[in-house]
Amino acid sequence: MVTTAQTGAIQVADGVFAFIQEGGATNGGFIVGDEGVVVIEGFMTKAVAQKMLGEIKRVTSKPIRFLVYTHFHGDHTFAGGNFLPAVVIGHKECREELLEKWAPWVERFSTNRPDDAAEFRALKPIPPEIIFNEKLTIHLGNKRVELLYFGRAHTRGDIFIHIARDRVVFAGDAVVNGRVPAFMDGYPSSWINVLEQLQALDFTTLVPGHGLLGSKQTAADLQGFIAELRRQTRQAHDAGRSEAEALSAVRLPLYASWPGMQNLAVPVQRMYMEWRGQL
Ligand SMILES: [Zn+2]
Repeated sequence: MVTTAQTGAIQVADGVFAFIQEGGATNGGFIVGDEGVVVIEGFMTKAVAQKMLGEIKRVTSKPIRFLVYTHFHGDHTFAGGNFLPAVVIGHKECREELLEKWAPWVERFSTNRPDDAAEFRALKPIPPEIIFNEKLTIHLGNKRVELLYFGRAHTRGDIFIHIARDRVVFAGDAVVNGRVPAFMDGYPSSWINVLEQLQALDFTTLVPGHGLLGSKQTAADLQGFIAELRRQTRQAHDAGRSEAEALSAVRLPLYASWPGMQNLAVPVQRMYMEWRGQL
């Protein structure tokens, strides 16, 4: 029985496991089919990747054949090398953004996490080697795993991993549960639209990029948050107010408990950039 407060490796369907970290750290998972294993996310540090490998070994001795990134961010890709020789798959824009922003991301993470800085600075990028635009299907014998792209959202290249028969979606950071997502590479209006398309899929379990296991409602909640923030910010924008003025006028009591609510400067900035035609 899955309870939403659980962390660690959680079996959400036959052969489908979510890997939920404590404290809102990066989530991922793995799918075990007749023909091998698909790992979702490369994670940030070797220690977390090793923990994930241990969880996989506890369940199966089948080989890890594919590593799928939901998007390029370092906490989802830095430790991808630990899963090789798996074939690395991601969206075309995930590959491009990973290579384009590699150096600043290594610096950002090294500054934020000095204890891991030596590990990060020694890394080489492991970008997706198989890329796609709209949709890619992996057949693992009895398991059919669909990788779907609906447009720009949390980054330029976020994908969803849908196991339709098991009604499970891995959402990466396009959906985080009960917290404000990172907006520094985000596209707010397109993101709202992507979340609309996501909710049209058939699923009951949603594995978010951060936070506890969720459902379709988790996607709806995040969509509601972005849409309401955008609505209020747009009003301020249209009244000729600055970003700072728009930010100080934001009132979102429904989401007051979400970590990240104390500082909405980056999402407001990205919204203004969109309206100035800078995104
Ligand atoms: Zn991210």
